[in-house]
Amino acid sequence: MLGTMMNYPLTLAQILEHAHCIHGDKQVHSLLPNGRLHTYNYDTLYLRVKQLANAITTLGGRPGDRVATFASNTYQHLELCCAVPYAGAIIHPLNVRLAPAQLAKIVAEADDKLIFVDGACAEQFSQLQHKIDCKHVIFFNIDTRQNQNLGNLSIEYEQFLSEADDDYTSDIQDENWAMALCYTSGTDGEPKGVLYTHRSMFLHTLAVNQADVFGLTELDVVMPLVPMFHAMGWGLPYASMFAGADIVFANANHERIVDLIAETGVTVAAGVPTVWTKLLPELRERKQDISSLQRLIVGGEPMPSTLIEVYEEELGVEVRHAWGMTEMSPTGTFSTLRSANQHLSDTEKWKIKAMQGRPISGVQIRLANENRTELPWDGMTIGELQVKSPWTARSYYKNEPTPEHFTADGWLRTGDLATIDAEGYMQIVDRAKAIIRSGGESISPVALENVLLKHPSIKDAAVIGISDEKWGERPLAIVVLSPQKTENISEILKQHLATGFPKFWIPDKFVVVDEIPKTGVGKTDKHAIMELITASQKGELL
Ligand code: AMP
Repeated sequence: MLGTMMNYPLTLAQILEHAHCIHGDKQVHSLLPNGRLHTYNYDTLYLRVKQLANAITTLGGRPGDRVATFASNTYQHLELCCAVPYAGAIIHPLNVRLAPAQLAKIVAEADDKLIFVDGACAEQFSQLQHKIDCKHVIFFNIDTRQNQNLGNLSIEYEQFLSEADDDYTSDIQDENWAMALCYTSGTDGEPKGVLYTHRSMFLHTLAVNQADVFGLTELDVVMPLVPMFHAMGWGLPYASMFAGADIVFANANHERIVDLIAETGVTVAAGVPTVWTKLLPELRERKQDISSLQRLIVGGEPMPSTLIEVYEEELGVEVRHAWGMTEMSPTGTFSTLRSANQHLSDTEKWKIKAMQGRPISGVQIRLANENRTELPWDGMTIGELQVKSPWTARSYYKNEPTPEHFTADGWLRTGDLATIDAEGYMQIVDRAKAIIRSGGESISPVALENVLLKHPSIKDAAVIGISDEKWGERPLAIVVLSPQKTENISEILKQHLATGFPKFWIPDKFVVVDEIPKTGVGKTDKHAIMELITASQKGELL
């Protein structure tokens, strides 16, 4: 027998309407590329979102169309993340840090019909523009000089908006309709699209606002230092709007973050550990009053217990360490302390917080081995982490689920190797996929290896991540030279890679060896390589 409750579709429209109706006076602050702080409230955001939804529709945007953004975090980007799904289309924030060739491939696969570009990213975009086939390009935050150079095919955002009516009613009946597309960094060298639905994003928004997760309330002022292309800024903008919290976008002006925290009274800030390592000296020597800051949400890569200690003990800011992935919208686990842990010493507590944590309500996790046998939660047994939730992908964009990524009984294979203890705390021990995380961004070793192998002087190549104080990890390449080897091989290879990858992907160091260690089945043995490199750093090899 069916229940008798309303069939109330869970859509982004409900989040926007709620923010307007209940929290209309709450504010969105954006630091603009010209250094000015722009501020308006959710009421104004709401009207502009309706205008934008009309303008997009007038320009020919239809439900289901993909609409790309090439932008940093600003109020216009937030308007797009609301208006595009509100109009039934799909918002697709592009990773501005990827190389033009990689981006062109993604735009072609996504089949983006319109693209909105931030003036702050105009230079990078100029290298991409001729490689893509997007019907319309709309620019915002451009200065007068840039405005004059726009050309006939481009449109200025404010003008685009001003020509549209603010009378628009969203009409999404099916909560399973797609609303956003985010690409992973790609473990096999090829980024994969994850297509979020209205339902999945709505439920993720509710889930992260639980007290033990982001725990946002109307009293909060939230600073997401996470780009929108990274799983919609970890869902923080939508979560803030639903809770009625103020939002503060620092854009790309990282040197102004401490000022902004003080000026706007930020209570919760979120970003990858590299951001917090980088900001630490400034926060320690600050002259500004940052006593409003209560909590950091940190994830994307491991947060060392020493850094947690500094933030909690020295700066008095609580650290909440999270694990997740683009495929999970992205939140999976949170490392908060249980009541049973409260009596522990601070050092023991920081050790627990440095683990990736327990699944948040709504998420299921398990460990499995190659034989698909489920492994015990004993804190020692290592297995592949598999997950399930209402906000986890069941397949990739334009792809059927394959056994490589999804199990027959419907779990996502994360590719992370982990342990889980009896209390449910999960700890990542390795990445089956060996992706390199540098400054919170992913670098695919396989993609670099594939291009290295195309160089005539290279017989074999492997790329691994080595730990780096500043960036977390940096790529290092190990190469075997072919007989017709050339002088200055490092420089030549750097130039060779620079044509296809962004600067931060290029390995800092190239190590020449006679042979690359292989496993029994002939695959590159990255553990043996790591040992080789460690030996070489001790002066035994080079
Ligand atoms: P992405 O989809 O780019 O967010 O990357 C997801 C991957 O980042 C995960 O599968 C993990 O390998 C890694 N990751 C995310 N959060 C953490 C964390 N707190 N500790 C260790 N690795 C993490």
